[in-house]
Amino acid sequence: MDQDRIMIDVRGLEKNFGHVKAVDRISFQVRAGQVVGFIGANGAGKTTTMRILATLSSADAGEVKIAGLDVMEYPAEVRRKLGWMPDQFGVYDYVSVFEYLDFYARAYGFKAQERRRRVEEVMVFTDLATFGDRPMRGLSKGQAQKLCFGRTLLHDPEILILDEPAAGLDPRARIEFKNLVRILAQRGKTILISSHILSELGEMCDAMLFIDGGRLVYQGTASELMRQSGTEAGGLVEVVVAGEREKLLQWFECRPGWKLIRATREGALAAFESDQPEALAAQLRMMVGEGLPLVEFKRIERRLEDAFVDMLKNGGQA
Ligand code: ATP
Repeated sequence: MDQDRIMIDVRGLEKNFGHVKAVDRISFQVRAGQVVGFIGANGAGKTTTMRILATLSSADAGEVKIAGLDVMEYPAEVRRKLGWMPDQFGVYDYVSVFEYLDFYARAYGFKAQERRRRVEEVMVFTDLATFGDRPMRGLSKGQAQKLCFGRTLLHDPEILILDEPAAGLDPRARIEFKNLVRILAQRGKTILISSHILSELGEMCDAMLFIDGGRLVYQGTASELMRQSGTEAGGLVEVVVAGEREKLLQWFECRPGWKLIRATREGALAAFESDQPEALAAQLRMMVGEGLPLVEFKRIERRLEDAFVDMLKNGGQA
């Protein structure tokens, strides 16, 4: 696999629905073998972008190439190269797991033995091998989602575009799903995967794209995002005070080594340059010594979500 090969190339993409700028001049590239998270709130423009990539909708402006092929000029070739998992898919109550996959394999044009082999492979891969005769209405949400995921793999595409594939899954099903993505990544697939939950994607993606109001506001890795918000190496602390929090905010503003992340309802979230317990204990003693009316001083694990909120507050980066 040529890891420098650009498999998804999006330049100046725009899509409007009336006055709504659903996608507003987005540009990004995904290289061969990368797993990239596409993250944004409801209505941010993820599905609209992904549908254009999957040749299901046309752009108003801009250019999209999949494996070097323009999606508008070569839609049939592009579809052969990519697997698309929509965020909503039909569940046919009385169609069995096998029949469902067999139907799609027929649609891809696979014949007899080859079709059977592919369907069986996908059932094994998605852990649905023992569910072949089970009607879809008897599947749990996680199983139905895996089935739809399996459907996108039937033609062994090089590129996968997955729209909210983990939405609504319980923690166990989410872990199983992550494992499948990991295996596919190891096999060299290029994967673009959307979610509105950042932590859902953080650990499985090589890079992340954040979309907000149709615009790309950040692209980079999870650790770059943490670093950019300035607290990756340090300790994050949530402090609650009795009464007025102004004195506490000032304290964080002027003390060396501290960075105020944000004021909270009863105090503040701040980062100290070190996360060593002794260093934090010394700071705590100093705060108490200087008369700050502390009610709580709690070291917390920094979450990607916090870093993202900080980055948005700082005006984005992309
Ligand atoms: P979600 O997480 O809720 O799926 P999303 O990030 O995928 O959201 P989109 O579905 O791409 O967001 O929607 C982006 C914007 O475009 C929204 O304001 C939405 O209301 C609007 N939009 C999307 N599709 C259409 C449509 N067919 N007609 C009119 N407006 C649309």
